Amino acid sequence: MTEYIITNGILITWETENRVLEEHAIYVVDDRIQEIGPQADMLARHPGVERLDAAGQYVMPGNICAHTHFYGAFARGLAIPGAAPKDFPEILRKLWWPLDKALDEEAVRASAEVMLAEAIRHGTTTLIDHHASPNAIDGSLDVIADAVDRSGLRAVLCYEVTDRDGTAKAEAGIAENLRFINRLRTNPHPRLGATFGMHASLTLSDETLGKCLLAAPKGIGFHIHVAEHPADEYDSLAKSGKRIVDRLADFGMLGPNSIVAHAIHIDAREAALLAESQTWVSHQPRSNMNNAVGAAEVESLLRLGIKVCLGTDGFTSTMWEEWKFAYLLQKVWHRDPRRMPGDQVAHMAAYHNAELVTRFFPSAVLGKLIPGAHADIIFVDYHPHTPLTAGNLPWQIIFGFHESMVTTTIAAGKVLMRDRQLLTMDEAAISARARQLAPQVWERYQSFVPAD
Ligand SMILES: [Zn+2]
Repeated sequence: MTEYIITNGILITWETENRVLEEHAIYVVDDRIQEIGPQADMLARHPGVERLDAAGQYVMPGNICAHTHFYGAFARGLAIPGAAPKDFPEILRKLWWPLDKALDEEAVRASAEVMLAEAIRHGTTTLIDHHASPNAIDGSLDVIADAVDRSGLRAVLCYEVTDRDGTAKAEAGIAENLRFINRLRTNPHPRLGATFGMHASLTLSDETLGKCLLAAPKGIGFHIHVAEHPADEYDSLAKSGKRIVDRLADFGMLGPNSIVAHAIHIDAREAALLAESQTWVSHQPRSNMNNAVGAAEVESLLRLGIKVCLGTDGFTSTMWEEWKFAYLLQKVWHRDPRRMPGDQVAHMAAYHNAELVTRFFPSAVLGKLIPGAHADIIFVDYHPHTPLTAGNLPWQIIFGFHESMVTTTIAAGKVLMRDRQLLTMDEAAISARARQLAPQVWERYQSFVPAD
């Protein structure tokens, strides 16, 4: 049994009525929070238990990322040949599709390790990944799962099925999802979950969607990009006579276990279908700005009761940075400073993200400091020069928090970083390995980039 008491921290609980607690301690036993209470009382009741001194730092639940792509690691610093892509469909054709083709098993492993080490450093303890490596499909999710297992973090994995590389690879993608889902059903892992991944409507025929539906075991949710660009909607209309969300609804792919990333160009009926089916929507403002695809009507979606979450889409797992983009994007998009107040950002990133990932790890609550919750905890070395309260915390985070202030990261009760030292991963070796692989990955990428 592992047990320790986190002392001398200021606790941010992220309970539904958030609380900021001074002079309170957290008693962790194995992978759970056993007790939270006044420190003096707790130390008196548990004498001799090891202490983890937070030394006046804020102690809060680890951050959660609702949508990312570990394989994006090799995009950093990559030169796209020829003219700069003029829109998102060109970005897919000239950057992402040739890049994911360039990944072999070693590159898949290296990209996952780089992203996981970065997540530990920046206090993100649960990630929902969406993976593609069309020339290394079989077993790719095991390679990532192995890296997740060694890192000590928590992740939900899937393989993005697509028709863009032909029927055989679409079927291999389906098989990889199914294999990994069954692996976890037969042999559950306390820190791994699975969804059934699909790329996007615009690269999926009705035939392939039908095969995905048939393959997906009952109760498994789908994870798919939706309406990231208008091209996705027009493709769906041309192919099926239906808008994307209607098309997915008719296939029975929506529901409380499914995640739709982006949902920028959906119409009101599609939004209503997402709300009725209780499908999760994941918002990635940084990626949307970078791809110049517009901004989802996040406030309207939230008003409809849709549980909009926050993801990074393959950028670094710096969730507070994503909070800032979520806060700022709606303001400039609508030219109205009243749009997207900080508490709505917190609603997505702290509450909805926690609720979403708790579905995948249902043995306990995630994303809250409460007795019985999974012990996923970070220490933040933040010294506000104005009072920090439960009420103004979202704005303190947006204007004051930085991920470099995270000094300790704990997942499932295990300390993964202490005083900024990673304990489960050799960060320098991981970076060196990725740097060594990158030139080969980039060379293969160049060979896959279309000529135009
Ligand atoms: Zn994405």
